[in-house]
Amino acid sequence: MLMEVIAVSDVLLSVAGLRKYFPIKGGLLRRTVNHVKAVDDVSFSLREGETLGLVGESGCGKSTTGKVILRLLQADSGSVTFRGADLLSLKGEALRRARAGFQMIFQDPYASLDPHMTIESIVGEPLTARGIGGSERRRRVAEVLEAVGLDSSCRSRFPFEFSGGQRQRVGIARALAPEPSLIVADEPVSALDVSVQAQVLNLMVEARKRFGLSYLFISHDLSVVRYISNRVAVMYLGRIVEIGEVGVGPSDFFTTPLHPYSRALLASVPEPDPFRHRTRVVLPGDVPSQIDPPSGCSFHPRCAAAERICSEETPPLREHGRGHWVACHLA
Ligand code: SF4
Repeated sequence: MLMEVIAVSDVLLSVAGLRKYFPIKGGLLRRTVNHVKAVDDVSFSLREGETLGLVGESGCGKSTTGKVILRLLQADSGSVTFRGADLLSLKGEALRRARAGFQMIFQDPYASLDPHMTIESIVGEPLTARGIGGSERRRRVAEVLEAVGLDSSCRSRFPFEFSGGQRQRVGIARALAPEPSLIVADEPVSALDVSVQAQVLNLMVEARKRFGLSYLFISHDLSVVRYISNRVAVMYLGRIVEIGEVGVGPSDFFTTPLHPYSRALLASVPEPDPFRHRTRVVLPGDVPSQIDPPSGCSFHPRCAAAERICSEETPPLREHGRGHWVACHLA
């Protein structure tokens, strides 16, 4: 397992060797007969004030990674260090206090807001959980509603009175309320109309600057990730296969992707300029099962460049150039 080398003082979140397997039960006695390897030896770091885009196809383990980091799911092994504290070992009051430092924005702005609660109650809920009430709670709710472009007069209304984009603004306000340092945003714009997506993304960029936030931005949409991220990490079958910078010279992920899977993903993104055509790479076969992933490099059955070593040895995530990491024997 290799870690990116970045200045320790810059690091907000450090994830090392993270694993999450879901057991599959079978037989009369409902014994564990196998596992879905949703997150398998994942390591990365997130700097203060940075947005790291975590991309990959559905079911690659990116959302599970986010939930394990936030302790919404229990990790099987590995470590998650947040501001120097080992998150996976925290319990009780210590965990509750640490939780104020990281929040989540969910994909579905319809399902993630309780329809029976007013906007004031929804946005103020994480403050109440921290023992903040009265005028301080009201002041902070008004501040974050204003930050997401909602008039504070909406605080007595209910979620059904709002559009999808407005509901996602409420979800962002709720995440901002306890003054977190880290927000894990799980497909935060994928349920919204395209016309509203840009507004919500711009809002998230503004909030990052204003409140000094870092984002782990989970998405299957590379165009969205390119717009908002400083770096990008690509996941395939529970593992990170590439990490690169966005818009930074030779390590730019979008102009010089190194992993064959990343190249295939990028080739599938529609090209807005009709005079520029990407060479479309069509991947053979389906995404293999996470219950019994292929040996060695799990991408090898679909990789046109595969050689014998690819099915025999798992390639480690290695630094290829400054800030650009790839898990491929031939890169
Ligand atoms: Fe393809 Fe081999 Fe690289 Fe895997 S290790 S991406 S199979 S060339």
